[in-house]
Parts: sequence; C-alpha cells; structure tokens
Amino acid sequence: MLDRDRCLALDADDPLREFRAEFVLPEGVIYLVGNSLGALPRHTPERVRRAVEDEWGGRLVGGWNDAGWYDLPLTLGDRIAPLIGAGPGQVVVGNTTSIAVHQAVSAAVRLRPERRVIVSDTRNFPTDHYMIQGLAQALGGYEIRDFAEGRFDDAAVVLLSEVDYRTSERHDVPAVTARVREAGALMAWDVCHSVGALDVDVSAADFAVGCTYKYLNAGPGAPAFLYVNPRHHADAVNVLSGWHGHAEPFAFEEGYRPAEGIRRFAVSTPHVLSMASLDAALDIWERVPLDLLRAKSMALGSLFVDLVGDALELASPADAERRGSHVSFHHPDGFPVVRALIDRGVQGDFRAPDILRFGIAPLYTRYVDVWDAAHTLVEVLDKELWKDERYARRPAVT
Ligand SMILES: *Cc1c(COP(=O)(O)O)cnc(C)c1O
Repeated sequence: MLDRDRCLALDADDPLREFRAEFVLPEGVIYLVGNSLGALPRHTPERVRRAVEDEWGGRLVGGWNDAGWYDLPLTLGDRIAPLIGAGPGQVVVGNTTSIAVHQAVSAAVRLRPERRVIVSDTRNFPTDHYMIQGLAQALGGYEIRDFAEGRFDDAAVVLLSEVDYRTSERHDVPAVTARVREAGALMAWDVCHSVGALDVDVSAADFAVGCTYKYLNAGPGAPAFLYVNPRHHADAVNVLSGWHGHAEPFAFEEGYRPAEGIRRFAVSTPHVLSMASLDAALDIWERVPLDLLRAKSMALGSLFVDLVGDALELASPADAERRGSHVSFHHPDGFPVVRALIDRGVQGDFRAPDILRFGIAPLYTRYVDVWDAAHTLVEVLDKELWKDERYARRPAVT
C-alpha cells in the first residue's frame, strides 16, 4: 500500500517532474484548480513586458507588421494544432469559446441546410447550451435534441464536450465522431476541459473549440481557438464576417469576401497582450510528450480516488480511461467543504448542485500534493470541520 514517502519517490521518478519549476506556485498552497485557471509560467511576465514595452511602446502602430501582431491568430493556431491532433493552417485563435461555438455551429448548420436538428448534451457546460439556444432562436425552426437520445440521422451537427466539466466523464472521441459522421451529421468538439491534460485528437471531426486559460496556462481572459477541418475550408461560412476574416482587410472594400483557408474564421482585431501570454505558455507545450501527460494525469486521478475511498461518493468514472483530468465527488454541502479545504491550503472548487472538483494539472501537480490534499479532505469530513459557519458565505465567482 502507498504511503507519503512512496509518493515522494514517485515524484522523484516522474519524467515530467522538471516542468513544475517553470510555474509560479504560491507557498503553502496545493492548487487543484488548474482546470479552471492554469498557473502562471515563470517566463510569461517577461514575454508580456516585451509585448507592452518593446513592441507597443517601442514600435507603436508598426507592431502590426514588425512584431507579427496581425498574424498572431494563425501563428498561435499553428502552435496549438499539435495539442489537438490538428495540422498547420487548421486552427485560428481569437475571441472566446462561446463565440467559437457560435461560429462552428452556425457554419455546420449551413453545411447541412436540409437538416433542422442540433444535438447537444444537456450536461454540457452551460455557455455551450446558451449559445445554441440563442442561435436556434435567431435562425428559427431548429430543434435542440439531447445526445442521450442517440439519433443523428436528421441532425445537422452534434456538439459535445470531450470531458464533462462536472463529472470528468470522457467521451470516446473517435467512436462518437465516426458514429455521428456515418449518420450524415457534422461533429463539433469542445475540448476546454481536455486540451493540455489529455492526448486530444479531433482530426476526424469537423470542428473543435477550446479555451487557453485552463490547462494551457495562458492566463485570465486569454483567447479561445477554433479548429476547422480542411474539408470545409472552401465551403464553410463564418457568420461573424468581420474584417479580419476578409480576403483583403486593408483593401477596405464595401462587400465581404472571405479569406482563403482558416483565416476566414478570424473575426476582428487580435487581443495582442493576452496572445503574448498565450505565446509564452505554448513555449512549454512544445516540450511536453502528451502520452506521458495523459499517463500521469490518470495515475494521479486514480491515486486521489483511492485515497478518498469511501469518505465521499465518487461522481467521476472510477476507470481512469473514461475520466478526464479532474476528479469529482458528490457532497450535499459541497460549498462549505471546499471553503474549509481552501482555509487549509488545498484549493479545489465547487460546481452546483453538489459537486466537489479537484483538477490535476500534470505539469505541476505532484503525487505528494494528491496525498496531502486527499488526507486534508478526509480530515475535514471526518471531523466535520466544514460545519464552521465561516464557510457558508459565497463569493460572486465560485
Ligand atoms: C471553460 C469553458 C467554456 C468557457 O467559455 P468562454 O466563452 O471562454 O467563457 C466553454 N465551454 C466549456 C466546456 C468550458 O469548460
């Protein structure tokens, strides 16, 4: 049976152990919320400082050409592509995940004009749902159907998250993609909770969207990305037909003419400063073997599940193959339990109605962190430390 010393030994042998030193992690905190906001890479402040002082301060408007700002949506897209199984010229960075969902699903329904059904998972992250609801309302005449019904033969598009943000359940991406496409529908994946933690491969799908501030560590408010399979580059329509998706934005023509390739999915002026922090974060990702990342994520998740044992009801799949990189449990008083943990240096989070979540970021979470966090959690439950009334109050962001 495992003890704390054995965890220290596993950390010493961990092939990814050297990455942890590349992040700023506050003393005395076990950070298990990297699935919500990733940690700060040590070299990011210098890269952002350069973008502000040297590029903006020194070059002023010349930065658009000289510092490569104009092409950032594509150059960054090419750097993200290997993390999702995509190739160069297939991913564009910008906007937010919600906007990318709107672009992907709008494009998909136009590619299947004879079909009037959009399939999603009622358990999907709410913004994905909200965006589909708004789109269906704007278009008129569309039905939104739950994925669990399992019928795609009249569907235009199926939008799913690879990993469930609450339970961490992972879809079998190749199998689902094949089933959906065989039924003549298009497949769009949201990889927000998988990119940077799993061996993601959306190359068989039609569209994919994801964010960069979770496991990719690009910082609060960093832009999202959109993957479009090359088979759709010529025909797919970007309904958000802003000037940066135009064939010649600086011709200032009156009519919209889409650019060739993935650039047609750009919308407007890139967020240069948060793209600088994404650029810095991606320096680390160039060196990460994704098979080792996934193996460590599964090992740490299973360790957490084993150590918590019967103290809580598991909300995630027990089988690591079917789980993403966070582990969730049910507790009717989950919110004060999480507050009590935070007070003891263990940061997890709570998702309504009753889910405690612990995100494992394999680049900086250690075996010993999982050991200490699980033991603190069991102690908070055994001694009912969460019942202290200080832990009942809720801030705006949970
Ligand atoms: C985090 C997350 C989002 C975030 O959407 P934004 O538009 O970037 O705020 C969307 N979908 C899923 C599945 C997420 O996990």
